[in-house]
Amino acid sequence: MNYIKLANSGVQQLKPYEPGKPIEELERELGVTDIVKLASNENPLGASHKALHALRHLDELHLYPDGAGFSLKAALSEKLGIATDQLTLGNGSNDVLELVARAYLQPGDEAIFSEYAFAVYPLVTLACSAKPVQVPSNLFGHDLAAMAEAVTERTRVIFVANPNNPTGTWFNAHALDEFLSRIPERVIVVLDEAYFEYVEESHYPNGIERLEKYPNLVVTRTFSKIYGLAGLRVGYGISSPQIADVLDRVRQPFNVNTPAQTAAVAALEDDDHIENSRSENTSGLVQIAEGLQKLHLEQIPSVANFIAFDCGRDAMPVYEGLLKQGVIVRPLAGYDMPNHLRVTIGTSRENERFLEALKHVLRDQADE
Ligand SMILES: *Cc1c(COP(=O)(O)O)cnc(C)c1O
Repeated sequence: MNYIKLANSGVQQLKPYEPGKPIEELERELGVTDIVKLASNENPLGASHKALHALRHLDELHLYPDGAGFSLKAALSEKLGIATDQLTLGNGSNDVLELVARAYLQPGDEAIFSEYAFAVYPLVTLACSAKPVQVPSNLFGHDLAAMAEAVTERTRVIFVANPNNPTGTWFNAHALDEFLSRIPERVIVVLDEAYFEYVEESHYPNGIERLEKYPNLVVTRTFSKIYGLAGLRVGYGISSPQIADVLDRVRQPFNVNTPAQTAAVAALEDDDHIENSRSENTSGLVQIAEGLQKLHLEQIPSVANFIAFDCGRDAMPVYEGLLKQGVIVRPLAGYDMPNHLRVTIGTSRENERFLEALKHVLRDQADE
């Protein structure tokens, strides 16, 4: 019996998501110590002390979490100026992406996303045996006009990321409004704002402000990135109450665990941590961009907490050279970008360490 062939048709075409290499794995494999991981867009400053403090006082782990997420929804509602019935909590925002797919995609339906967009969009689409429709990018960014053109009778969902991962590209308020106005109301638009809090561009749009005008819009955000809680898995969607009602029907009853809910509430109160994280990142972006320029490596301009750069040849040997120096970055071959690597912005010391290691690796490999 071939159990691959027995799987749902979309699932047969799937490859498992490839995460950034964990620090412990590199230790085990190469015996390298003093490792810096700049591979998964985590916050180099860590979690808020308020969140860590709240986690130390958890003593009711024998009880199920609050399945309705009352406290976290109340805190988000106040912070974002939205109603609690517009919120969907997820086990990471990836969970919300999957809920949208499970609720709205059937075999034969189409879901649109951009070339070089986040790997989870095709993953959740194929998991529902729906058809992924990939629209060619414009200079590695979303070609929103072409994405609107790609809508057919079968289109049910469009995924857009602003900024996008792994490219760091973004679109402005005018482009988003133009795009939303062209999409039929029967098509759900998922606007993935995982890096929202990092962006400092003045024309960068806030998806939440468009919810009233576009009842087909779902905005997703996360505590994994600037909030520094990636290990806990907590994110959320904001939408019309009707879409939130639908997502609630397919959600696992206790999809967000108690430590995650507790830490997220505390993290929302720590504005200083967010401010510090944002300003560290903004200076780190400049530091790495300038460093890459000095090494004559072409890069994709980024407004997020990472930069993708072109090694000018197969990036795998560079990636492996960096691993030997104890620096973990992310290869992008899985995104059809075999010459690119993506580096997460770290602390200034980590950025320096990365740039030094990269310089050595490039020099050593040029000599070979
Ligand atoms: C990291 C990331 C997410 C967030 O994932 P979580 O499940 O919340 O950890 C979502 N979308 C994009 C584009 C990302 O890069």
